[in-house]
Amino acid sequence: MHDLIIIGGGPAGLTAGIYAVRYGLDTLVIEKNVVPGQIATADRVENYPGFPSISGMELMNKFKEHAEKTGVIVHSSDVRSVKDGGDKKVIVTDNGDLEALAVIIATGANPRRLGVPGEDTFLTKGVSYCATCDGPFYAGQNVIVVGGGESAVTDALILSDIAENVYVVHRRDELRACSILQKRAFDKENITFVWDTVVQEIKGGEFVEKAILKNTKTDEITEMEIDGIFIYVGITPNTSIADVEKQGAGFIVTDEKMESSVSGIFAAGDCRRTSMWQVVTAVSDGAVAAISAHEYITSVKFEN
Ligand SMILES: Cc1cc2nc3c(=O)[nH]c(=O)nc-3n(C[C@H](O)[C@H](O)[C@H](O)COP(=O)(O)OP(=O)(O)OC[C@H]3O[C@@H](n4cnc5c(N)ncnc54)[C@H](O)[C@@H]3O)c2cc1C
Repeated sequence: MHDLIIIGGGPAGLTAGIYAVRYGLDTLVIEKNVVPGQIATADRVENYPGFPSISGMELMNKFKEHAEKTGVIVHSSDVRSVKDGGDKKVIVTDNGDLEALAVIIATGANPRRLGVPGEDTFLTKGVSYCATCDGPFYAGQNVIVVGGGESAVTDALILSDIAENVYVVHRRDELRACSILQKRAFDKENITFVWDTVVQEIKGGEFVEKAILKNTKTDEITEMEIDGIFIYVGITPNTSIADVEKQGAGFIVTDEKMESSVSGIFAAGDCRRTSMWQVVTAVSDGAVAAISAHEYITSVKFEN
């Protein structure tokens, strides 16, 4: 029986681990991937204080190094479910069951899909959710970036250094990305903005060949010949493992102490309902969740 099990070894989970170990809790972090954390796929991170410009992989490695030095133990497993047994939580993994007094769910999120015909068919054959990972395949070609937030504009900029032309297709007539990124994108000669437009279908043979676009104001349908589509329309949280209150796409609802609707089950980072999903908010959530878990575990031990 551990004091605390943290599910997910991304920025939120490792920060929770660092705080929990420093509070003297017998802590285990469970991570299913060899390379944890969505941020590892980011080409550049320029908004995490202390690191004016760092690759996502390097930042993630620094988190791992820090956690290891603090004594955080990371166990490699895929968590299937979390069962609430009152004062004891059972964590069902592909390597057997584990028990803890409290659990922090820090399972992050995955890119949200557009949900249009052709998206699944052409996955890895022209459809991608990560320019850092797949951008180099599109050297000298024409690509669409779907979305208007930070991720869309950041990756449009990455692609503009690789591809011939980048078309940013956005359903509104303005971007949500921060003004620094907007200016950089507007200054790029090979980035074209296609406003008030959505992708209706992705077509091709073996690989993507064209996108069917619809203007949301005029309903006009057009075709654009392209080689790749990079999609950035939000995130879907990885929260199916726990039966706790959720909202929207499945984001876990917590109070300000990061506690979910089930006593002793906490949530932190991108899997939590909040107003911003970034590294800086994930690490903050992780720290708060660990301190709240410590408070909870102390009271459970005292009562028994
Ligand atoms: C391309 C890209 C660029 C980005 N750029 C920036 C940026 O510049 N600045 C910024 O602040 N943020 C950026 N972000 C967002 C940032 O990566 C996330 O906000 C942050 O990683 C959230 O951390 P997290 O720990 O909550 O979740 P994650 O990083 O998603 O980590 C969750 C971990 O949980 C593991 N996991 C999930 N389910 C299970 C399970 N069942 N069992 C075991 N393990 C499990 C996953 O493998 C993963 O390692 C970017 C994201 C992407 C995709």
